[in-house]
Amino acid sequence: MNPVPTFPLLAAGQLAARQHGTLTTCPYCGVGCGVRATVAGDGQVDIAGDESHASNAGRLCVKGSALGETVDLEGRLLHPQMLVENDGRQSMQRVSWDAALDKVAHGFRSIVEQHGPDAVALYVSGQLLTEDYYIANKLMKGYIGSANIDTNSRLCMSSAVAGHKRAFGADLVPVCYEDLELADLVVLVGSNTAWCHPILFQRIARIKEMRPQMKLVVIDPRRTATCELADLHLPLKAGSDVWLFNGLLSFLARHDAADAGFIEAHTDGLAAALEAAEADCADLAAVAKSCKLDPQDLLTFYEWFATNEKVVTAFSQGVNQSSSGTDKVNSIINCHLLTGRIGKEGMGPFSITGQPNAMGGREVGGLANMLAAHMELDNPQHRQAVQDFWQAPRMADRPGLKAVDLFQAIEAGRVKAVWIIATNPVVSLPDADQVQRALAKCELVVVSDIIEKTDTNAFAHVLLPAMGWGEKDGTVTSSERRISRQRAFLPAPGEARADWQILCQVAQRMGYAGFDFSAAHQVFDEHARLSAFRNGDAFGLRRMFNLAGLSGLGQAAFDALQPVQWPIVTAASGEKQGTARLFADGRFAHADGKARFVATVPRAPRHATDSAYPLSLNTGRVRDQWHTMTRTGKSPKLADHVPESFVDMHPQDALLYGVREGMLARVASRWGSMVARVQHGGGIARGSIFVPIHWNGQSASDARVGALVNPVVDPVSGEPEFKHTPVLVEEFRVAWYGFVLSRRLPMLDDVTHWTRIQGRRFNRYELAGRSPIADHGAWAASLLDVDVADADWLEYQDASAGIYRAVHVVDDRIDACVFLSPRPDLPSRAWLASLFAKDRLEDADRVGLLLGQPIAKGADTGPTVCSCFGVGRNTICTAVRTQGLSTVAQVTACLKAGGNCGSCVPEIKKLLTEILAEETA
Ligand code: SF4
Repeated sequence: MNPVPTFPLLAAGQLAARQHGTLTTCPYCGVGCGVRATVAGDGQVDIAGDESHASNAGRLCVKGSALGETVDLEGRLLHPQMLVENDGRQSMQRVSWDAALDKVAHGFRSIVEQHGPDAVALYVSGQLLTEDYYIANKLMKGYIGSANIDTNSRLCMSSAVAGHKRAFGADLVPVCYEDLELADLVVLVGSNTAWCHPILFQRIARIKEMRPQMKLVVIDPRRTATCELADLHLPLKAGSDVWLFNGLLSFLARHDAADAGFIEAHTDGLAAALEAAEADCADLAAVAKSCKLDPQDLLTFYEWFATNEKVVTAFSQGVNQSSSGTDKVNSIINCHLLTGRIGKEGMGPFSITGQPNAMGGREVGGLANMLAAHMELDNPQHRQAVQDFWQAPRMADRPGLKAVDLFQAIEAGRVKAVWIIATNPVVSLPDADQVQRALAKCELVVVSDIIEKTDTNAFAHVLLPAMGWGEKDGTVTSSERRISRQRAFLPAPGEARADWQILCQVAQRMGYAGFDFSAAHQVFDEHARLSAFRNGDAFGLRRMFNLAGLSGLGQAAFDALQPVQWPIVTAASGEKQGTARLFADGRFAHADGKARFVATVPRAPRHATDSAYPLSLNTGRVRDQWHTMTRTGKSPKLADHVPESFVDMHPQDALLYGVREGMLARVASRWGSMVARVQHGGGIARGSIFVPIHWNGQSASDARVGALVNPVVDPVSGEPEFKHTPVLVEEFRVAWYGFVLSRRLPMLDDVTHWTRIQGRRFNRYELAGRSPIADHGAWAASLLDVDVADADWLEYQDASAGIYRAVHVVDDRIDACVFLSPRPDLPSRAWLASLFAKDRLEDADRVGLLLGQPIAKGADTGPTVCSCFGVGRNTICTAVRTQGLSTVAQVTACLKAGGNCGSCVPEIKKLLTEILAEETA
């Protein structure tokens, strides 16, 4: 019998991937790093940075480096499924593509016919490729005739979009990554760049090492890892950014930093903006008080901004995710317009996007209030241009529902069918329990995804299997407007199809012409041609977004497309020319060519804390996870750094609210509640807490922070206020804590709270229970489904202390272990995890297992700091203390830690600082 090849469907390009690697783009953050993926003979995918890609020049952060661990087929949705009723019971069953597509097309068409186009909606994602996004938008806005298509990018950067449009006349990012390296002052606002955009942070760190005089200011309520590199950290009060930047505007105006020539020739509206700024923020001491900052530190920042010509102010979700997010963006842009620091090397305001293709989604009009190709829904000329180009039968003529409003409309029954593509709103939207209620009531819920079981898929009537990263083919656009190819190097698994293809097939079944594409490059070509359609002063429709230079690409040219920044034109020589910076000529996208100052009036977050909900909840990412963990959660390498959800709070607040580090706490708001482990050390001020966004119903029993977040949105952008929700924290009382490491899945019936963590060759579960355990031995055997009488079963019990340990050994290898205690300070999981890599347990291991700690010195490496080389905190601290290491370079030389992707460098730096401080105390 012939062996079955690992990848039987490899095409010529994919065969090449086995030998030389395929150049593609990382699917995580908006940095858009180039990746070289090579499929090895055994089917493993090797990942390396693409040395030729301008974004990363060969470097990858830990998430990008671990991509190879996330492309297996475990948990994949491989076939279409539909909810079918049998004997009065409903269940999801595999169906043919024809049946699934007919169901979606028929369902959408009949609801549109009965209730009108606004009764259906699409909710899509910044994970989609531009080609997918383009087709989704065309179907909804040009054919169904509603603008009810919104995207999860609404949750991360819609305030930046709105701010750009107000200031520049269109959604335009003026700068490029190189400007961060050319600047003399980099200001990072609301951005934990070290964890959320690590390769950008490393580019800044590298330049700072070469030019120590370059200054870095971090403006963030938390002392994040990014602050380890900062010359100045301003821990402003959450939500007070407009006070701070209005104060800066006023300071700059009063200290001769204004560029009068630039203001006169290229801007409008300064007087009103200055008046608004001076109303509350002319006095530095008053601004410092409003922002809860040291006045001297504030003055230092203002002086640095005033005296450094080359300033880049980069901002991210800490600015955008606010009920005054758009004003925050404009208050930043105002300072750059006043000083004329825009459109030139090393200066400008810079929105760093969270998602890999948030920018591509904006190009095609993926938001409910945009059209396509940077045209506007409320502009009749724009609508006509798009309609003529698409030959569209029924154009949307007003904005659709933005994300939060959309799910409220679904619950209210106004929207009766929703198609969710590549996103998990039951976890990621604010007031996420409301999203559950909405989907439970919705007549038709269609979900396209790569994963079979997600919190959102549980509500689907139809599940459509989509291709994932490495399988799909198209383009993404990074934060600096750089279009890069995502190329396929793996075959489509099962019956998975490209999202653009699925959308086209539904559109055709709905009877629409204009969707007969057979390859991604054809979709891209139409997108590029639309960007150039009637684009120019002659038509009165000049748009800076223009891909004229990329129209007409055939398959071969599309495959060969090199990363390039739009706008892209074809030079006289025939060469395709991209554009690094915008506004070099001082001409903006408003009809008069001038930029606008926007008067921004500071205002506090919508809901104030009170005696019932006295703490302010801030949410965000951790270093090694992405979104709702459906992909990064598969990687043992990424799971080690932060294994569980946590609530980070000030030690005095913990005391005040009766919780202790390591214990579980219940965090609740007026909208919902969750459970997480208490921790300190995240540099958080009193009165605030921080909880990460990643954990969901598949990875933990009760850790969806979205359930707590208030559904308040910015009135201009519709972006939710993820950075502030009034909450309370209280003890989550349990009778015992424990954990299990097992090669098989444990039975969790008697467990009150659990978190699942992917290990290498095992599953790890952190557990806690309310009901006291009467017979620990029987309980553990049942949990692990072990017949103790016939098993190699080691156990230790201290009945008076309530401590219990058991280990199941099979063929001299550890199969499972369970540890229980009334207290949360249980033995090191890192050491136990290392035993699962052994083919045979040694006697010392068995003794250690019963003692609850390793016998050999140094065997417990501690929690992971460097994920690339698996170096733990204990290992680093021991080396620093015993070998007198004092720099990151010395730690790297000694242990390799920090020597690959560099994502852990700020943490190593922090450890060094702490140990050196201890030693000199
Ligand atoms: S910084 Fe990391 S996550 Fe972001 S694109 Fe680069 S490799 Fe991917």
